[in-house]
Amino acid sequence: MTGLGDRLAAVVGAEHVLADEDVRAAYEHDWKGTRGGAALLAVRPGSTGEVAGVLRCCSEAGVAVVPRGGNTGLAGGALPRGGEVVLSLERLRAVGPVEVADALVEAEAGVTLARLQEHVRPEGLDFGVDLGARDAATVGGMIATNAGGIHAFRHGTMRAQVRGIEAVLADGTVVRRLTGVLKDNAGYDLPGLLAGSEGTLAVVTRARLRLVPFHRARATVLVALASVDAGVRLLGVLLARVPALDAVEIFGTRALELVCASACLPRPFPRPYPAYVLVEAAAHDDPLDQLVAALDHTDAVDSVVAADAAGRERLWAYRELMPEAMGRQAPSVHFDICLPRSGIAVFEKAIQQVLRSEAAGAGAAWLGHLGDGNLHVGIWGLAGDRAALERRLLQLTVSLGGSVSAEHGVGTRKVHMLPWAREPADLAVMQALKRALDPQGILNPGVLFPAAPSS
Ligand SMILES: Cc1cc2nc3c(=O)[nH]c(=O)nc-3n(C[C@H](O)[C@H](O)[C@H](O)COP(=O)(O)OP(=O)(O)OC[C@H]3O[C@@H](n4cnc5c(N)ncnc54)[C@H](O)[C@@H]3O)c2cc1C
Repeated sequence: MTGLGDRLAAVVGAEHVLADEDVRAAYEHDWKGTRGGAALLAVRPGSTGEVAGVLRCCSEAGVAVVPRGGNTGLAGGALPRGGEVVLSLERLRAVGPVEVADALVEAEAGVTLARLQEHVRPEGLDFGVDLGARDAATVGGMIATNAGGIHAFRHGTMRAQVRGIEAVLADGTVVRRLTGVLKDNAGYDLPGLLAGSEGTLAVVTRARLRLVPFHRARATVLVALASVDAGVRLLGVLLARVPALDAVEIFGTRALELVCASACLPRPFPRPYPAYVLVEAAAHDDPLDQLVAALDHTDAVDSVVAADAAGRERLWAYRELMPEAMGRQAPSVHFDICLPRSGIAVFEKAIQQVLRSEAAGAGAAWLGHLGDGNLHVGIWGLAGDRAALERRLLQLTVSLGGSVSAEHGVGTRKVHMLPWAREPADLAVMQALKRALDPQGILNPGVLFPAAPSS
């Protein structure tokens, strides 16, 4: 083990410093199996104090650190690039009692979303963010990426759920603001700053999280539509007429074909349609009548209504297994963008145009959280200039008033896109914050900003 390894072992115990190549390998891949660079070692502290000790050792040694939660991130931010210490939060798994009167719970960074949901639901409360990777994604990773998911239009993204935070700065200083009150204007908002910072400003160790009511009564309908435009109009109707609206997910024909083939699911309708919207309403009383009545005011061409929990699970399987099915196509370009409603159909038409101009074999599949305008698009089999196409479609996104990164973050994979989306003055403020909190630049170098060239 290196001198740094020995120092880290004194902090966390030798069994939690993983230097062996085979053991380390698990920390050098992402959930899809994509390989990063070779880490110097992986370390698994078991408390905030140990996280602080690890960061102190690394900053004294001038060694970079890659924080890691559940490793479900899709932008490469938790993958080592080569020579860093991977700091895994997997052992920080404590959850506090549910504070029913204040609708709050405190959880350590390594608690998974599924565990958090199981913990709070028996008290009649729920967590406001939900996503398909719930069994592995952690509180710390979700804060660091400002995760969005399927209820963002109803409850906001992760940033809106964090009422207090504890985090460790690059030099080992612990910052803590866990008051939990809604109105807290006593200075800069640390939770807001760290949400979406992708492990570049501090390592999140604990958070005080807002809870929302848990609605047991649910109604789910899969709707077939003749166009994406019709899907956008449907959203407007649902938002106006269904106060219990909880999720509005959209996908296209190709995404449905891919998931049916890869997960052996039956086709939900006898014929294909250009767009599908999966709608769920959740309330204390059964919201099915409310939902079905609202659908009468839309251009729905066909629909499948789930009558019970098993039926709802069957409908959700199409949507939740889609990212994996699309990932298997190894897309040449992938977009995670957010658009105003008026821009969604424009963007989809632009993709169709791209496919018409490409050689046979090119394909595209898209899905999204329609409720907040977030689209995920994969295009594969491109013969033309990928970089030019990516730039053109992202510039279109920006010109439509959208964002080039909706919920997966910038990571290492989208660093080149940031100047297309943010003004130079914005970027300068971001870099000044980074320098103030991490002057040596040891926290996740290469994420959000290009890594400094090594001297
Ligand atoms: C099937 C599937 C579906 C998904 N659906 C959604 C979705 O609907 N919405 C959505 O937003 N995302 C979605 N994701 C992406 C992913 O689940 C989220 O980005 C999630 O927030 C990542 O959490 P994690 O714990 O896995 O973080 P990781 O992947 O481990 O890390 C992600 C980033 O956060 C940093 N980080 C991790 N922990 C900490 C910490 N404690 N302190 C500081 N920095 C830290 C890492 O360095 C990295 O930059 C999906 C992923 C999969 C595989």
